[in-house]
Amino acid sequence: MTNDAGFLSGGGAMGALIRAYEWAATPLGPPETWPQALRSAIDLCLHSSFPTAIYWGPELRLLYNDAWAPIPAERHPDALGRPGAEVWSEIWPIIAPQFQRVLDSGEGFAAFDQMLPMARGGRVEETWWTYSFTPIRSEDGTIAGVLNQGNEVTAHVRTQHALRESEGKFRGITNSVDQMIWSTLSDGFHDYYNDRWYEFTGVPAGSTDGEAWNDMFHPEDRERAWGVWRHSLETGETYHIEYRLKHHSGTYRWVLGRAQPVRDAKGDITRWFGSCTDIQEIVDAREVLARSRAELERQVAERTRERNRLWAMTNDLMGTAGLDGYLKAVNPAWTRMLGWSDAELLARPFSELVDKSDHAATADVVRRLSLGETVDGFVDHVFCKDGRLRTIMWSAVPEGALFYIVGRDITEQRNAEEALRQSQKMEAVGQLTGGLAHDFNNLLTGISGSLELLQTRVSQGRLGDVDRYVNAAQGAAKRAAALTHRLLAFSRRQTLDPKPTDVNRLVVGMEELVRRTIGPHVTLEVVAAGGLWSALVDPSQLENALLNLCINARDAMPDGGRITIETANKWMDERAAKERDLDPGQYLSLCVTDTGTGMTPEVIARAFDPFFTTKPIGQGTGLGLSMIYGFVRQSGGQVRIYSEIGAGTTMCLYLPRHYGAAEDVEAVPDLSGAPRADAGETVLIVDDEPTVRMLVIEVLEDLGYTAIEAADGAGGLKVLQSDVRIDLLVTDVGLPGGMNGRQLADAGRVLRPTLKVLFITGYAENAVLGHGYLDRDMQVLTKPFVMEALASRIRDLIAGS
Ligand code: ADP
Ligand code: MG
Repeated sequence: MTNDAGFLSGGGAMGALIRAYEWAATPLGPPETWPQALRSAIDLCLHSSFPTAIYWGPELRLLYNDAWAPIPAERHPDALGRPGAEVWSEIWPIIAPQFQRVLDSGEGFAAFDQMLPMARGGRVEETWWTYSFTPIRSEDGTIAGVLNQGNEVTAHVRTQHALRESEGKFRGITNSVDQMIWSTLSDGFHDYYNDRWYEFTGVPAGSTDGEAWNDMFHPEDRERAWGVWRHSLETGETYHIEYRLKHHSGTYRWVLGRAQPVRDAKGDITRWFGSCTDIQEIVDAREVLARSRAELERQVAERTRERNRLWAMTNDLMGTAGLDGYLKAVNPAWTRMLGWSDAELLARPFSELVDKSDHAATADVVRRLSLGETVDGFVDHVFCKDGRLRTIMWSAVPEGALFYIVGRDITEQRNAEEALRQSQKMEAVGQLTGGLAHDFNNLLTGISGSLELLQTRVSQGRLGDVDRYVNAAQGAAKRAAALTHRLLAFSRRQTLDPKPTDVNRLVVGMEELVRRTIGPHVTLEVVAAGGLWSALVDPSQLENALLNLCINARDAMPDGGRITIETANKWMDERAAKERDLDPGQYLSLCVTDTGTGMTPEVIARAFDPFFTTKPIGQGTGLGLSMIYGFVRQSGGQVRIYSEIGAGTTMCLYLPRHYGAAEDVEAVPDLSGAPRADAGETVLIVDDEPTVRMLVIEVLEDLGYTAIEAADGAGGLKVLQSDVRIDLLVTDVGLPGGMNGRQLADAGRVLRPTLKVLFITGYAENAVLGHGYLDRDMQVLTKPFVMEALASRIRDLIAGS
């Protein structure tokens, strides 16, 4: 033992503290008494620059150097000279056994990354340490102390933990996705695959042999896949490729390979991260899609062909039109039906193709379409290029700003319907009025015949008989007056007496009467065609019709104007005749044109209807045009109205031509000059109208004939069955009692084959009489007739001329 304390020289701050320390008050005693082993250890400790401490004696009292001083933190410098168990109370349970091991065994101990929960700044925190305990042996061989060297590795351990955690996370993520994920070094050397990769390929987990790829590429894709990969490695461009990869089952599946480089701060590539996505289902779906698209295209093409055929071939008008009022597309039927070219149809608003009368309704249809409504069965009238109108029935379906239209030509159908309607109407009117007219004619015959005989008796001075005739005429007139109240319609079955007529002469003959009728405010012009054919028509009816047309024209011009009466020859070819519902051939036209108000299409459509009038009650009967229509149609002709509102009206009568010259209108001869009967000649007269019978008998007796009378067919037949002499049968056609005049005559001819017959008839009972084809020695006389005409007919027949 020596008192020399020179071993305590140097050692920095801790050297100074140790020297200054009151060691005498500790079990270690003053430094001069310290054993050599301690002295050597302290010298080593104070001159080491590594954190070093010495635990000495049974209490493991602490001495340490400057490098170690920060370890106990706020416990420095109090820790100096104090027992280890006091200084390190919180970690003593951990390190005490370690000390004990060294003390017991005499062998050194080392701990790496040892966690020690250290109290620092008032709280305990996890810290990690790497340190060693080395035994210090005294001269007698016992372990008197422990040399401790070590440093804190908390930061390092924490980094390690973080790294491990992030790696774990990375693996967790890569293994949680469906894709195969891999990484390579910058040169393309594979160093990582996720679980999906191993599962897919069947390569043993953990193996990262890059050569394995060679086998797994589909032979057809191998070159391409490597090529693209090499290109990416050289250029750093993203790797992106679809190829087939061998599944561990041996089949190939399409995958999408992708890889992207990771770069360091300098921009150099450090590694590649890649993935393979199984896209087999997508590829399958793509194929199905491609196949079905091809099929769809084929079907569409076929349907388009079919539709184009329909579009081109159909006779219906098909097209698209816009809510802007223009046609956008039309099929060839338009040009075929209407004569307009496509360009002409598309260039202007479609309303210009439509008759004015349909404009309002067309606008309404467009409005409905614009609201998304479908329109069906709309009918309008469309102009052909040649000016004719066709009646079209439309269907239209809207779609956005367009609508699809289909139109069907129903012109013929409509015309037929119209004609049917017209003729049905006329038929009804005819039936109604025909019967009335028959009665009326009988009465007229009674009146005029009575007057005639009255005249004859007066001129003969036989005044005694006058009363009889006056009474007969008055009775008939009264009955006629009653009848006229019911005779409000005109019949198409009136008795017409068509004659070859010079229409120009007839017009000229009417001119004065017309002029007086129309008054001074209306100018009359007559344009008579030169070389006008003659017409086969009842002239008095034609006069009546002309007068009626002129009165209508006058009524349409309340402020005056001009009436033009015009005649012309007309050759109707197949088309022109069809348009007017006539047989082709030669006709005359008699047209009356005015400069009056004109007629709306609605008025035109109804003008021929009986009782249709736009005139105030008392002024119009509505029978003028219906009568004209009936007369002209019965005469084999036609009436047409050409009129526009505000532009006047032309009414045209078309009359059939007569081949041959016109007859002169005969003057009525005088009854007193009539031929007289030979003695004994007998006439049978059958008529249900007593006045007629009386008159005929008067005439016959005047002429010297014997007369026998019967009131119906049965009575007449009885006479014929007897052996009474009968030179002539005069009979009405319409007779009561089930046997008409014709049947009576036929029955009479059976009994008396040479019987001569004269039919007297109120209206053309043509069907009864065999449409004018009468047997020899049979004639017709229509009522009313003048007595003179009756007398000369009777004479002629009996004489056999
Ligand atoms: P009414 O003359 O008694 O009215 P009509 O049968 O003669 O009967 O004519 C029928 C209708 O036709 C007339 O009410 C009129 O509206 C119209 N009409 C006939 N002729 C003409 C014309 N020349 N101008 C204008 N409207 C006419
Ligand atoms: Mg009239």
